[in-house]
Amino acid sequence: MIFPIVAYGDPVLVKKAQTVADDYPKLKELVANMFETMYNAEGVGLAAPQIGLSLRIFVIDSTLFDEKEKKNGKSSEPDDENQEPTGLKRAFINPEKIDETGKVWKYEEGCLSIPKITENVSRPDTLHLRYYDEDFNEYVETFTGLTARVIQHEYDHIEGILFLDHLKPLRRQLLKGRLNKISKGNVKVPYRMRFPNAKRRR
Ligand code: ZN
Repeated sequence: MIFPIVAYGDPVLVKKAQTVADDYPKLKELVANMFETMYNAEGVGLAAPQIGLSLRIFVIDSTLFDEKEKKNGKSSEPDDENQEPTGLKRAFINPEKIDETGKVWKYEEGCLSIPKITENVSRPDTLHLRYYDEDFNEYVETFTGLTARVIQHEYDHIEGILFLDHLKPLRRQLLKGRLNKISKGNVKVPYRMRFPNAKRRR
């Protein structure tokens, strides 16, 4: 099932999400639907608040970057020596950041909830994370490069943080008009969205 994606301006996107109980009903179905929603919108990550659920769940598929890079014949990883495909498809339940280390690098991020806006965001290139999968198996893992980047962006979502929050105030100020339009639904998007400030149609 494809969910509508919640647009910028909805309070659910700025709220700290709730821990998922280990007996949460139909968790696997929810995760499958989140992947379906993400692929439908051609995204590489989707967090539960983006479908209106204030829960600490997100899904990612950074293998899509490997394919894009193969096509472009270039790598946007911070370390170009490592040309191995490093992409990962995974669901993260109740993740906890242990540490962020390594070189801080810039990458142009976008967000399915903020269509048509991309901005350079600086983040450390290595992430140490504890999390559960959809069967509630626990993992502690280290992620790097674009995979770490996608996880960091999605992790922010469950903390109520958007990539815009990493920008300098002046840069944000410049985007204000466009963000306002997005919240009203005055933007063309090739996937279904829910706009917080849309005028009701009769
Ligand atoms: Zn996002």
